[in-house]
Amino acid sequence: AALDGARPRPDDRFRALGPDDDSAFIRLMAAEAAATLEDKPADRILEWAAGVVPRFVVTSSFGAESAVLLHLLSRVAPEVPVLFLDTGLHFDETLRFRADLARRLGLSVVDLRPERSVAQQALRHGDALWSRDPDACCAMRKTTPLRTALHSFDGWATGVRRSQTPERAATPVVEAREHDGRWLVKVAPLVTWDDDRVDAYLREHDLPHHPLADQGYPSIGCAPCTARVAPGQDPRAGRWAGFDGKTECGIHLADDGTVVRTTTTPG
Ligand code: SF4
Repeated sequence: AALDGARPRPDDRFRALGPDDDSAFIRLMAAEAAATLEDKPADRILEWAAGVVPRFVVTSSFGAESAVLLHLLSRVAPEVPVLFLDTGLHFDETLRFRADLARRLGLSVVDLRPERSVAQQALRHGDALWSRDPDACCAMRKTTPLRTALHSFDGWATGVRRSQTPERAATPVVEAREHDGRWLVKVAPLVTWDDDRVDAYLREHDLPHHPLADQGYPSIGCAPCTARVAPGQDPRAGRWAGFDGKTECGIHLADDGTVVRTTTTPG
């Protein structure tokens, strides 16, 4: 659907898809959209996705700057559900922020929980798995619950931005991602935004930061894996501090653990 001023409508080609024939269409559509939407405002990108992708969802960590994407969503498609990975290991401040922001913006948040509670995980894998094997912990508490939830959707949006990490520098605004044999559309409406733009948006709309953001936590995940950073330090330096090379929980990585850099056209 072109961005011609009218609200985008669901693309009927989604309805005709069988389980085995969605790859080519979705990959082509994502490549076309990535080219068309690269320089469009974030609200138009979100509106396009919410209109064109039939079962569309937004994921949020309810982190330092999550209010931006959620505020945009509340303006253009408040009916779209928001998925939150409730790992059982969040700061209390995150859970309060999640509840307050959802109420204020009128959004419907779905909590995704891992198969095992923190206590059950400890019984099976030992205490504090995150301190010994954070990849395994993230797989059980984040990536698997998200993958399972995405079985019910055709596409999703995240707040990922290119300027956050070198690994995210080539993130497309729209890409096709394969999940358990199905292709979905993944959208990053804020992909071109820098920190100044995020701060300006929060100020302009009188939106809250996560309460810990002003206490030295510019990037916030699970409590055991989030440390305070010094002024001027890389904002993500406090994530998985002490684990060289781990910068992502895995939900933005390809199935083989590598970063997806481009949207491929059907081949
Ligand atoms: Fe586990 Fe840490 Fe990953 Fe949270 S961020 S799921 S505690 S390893």
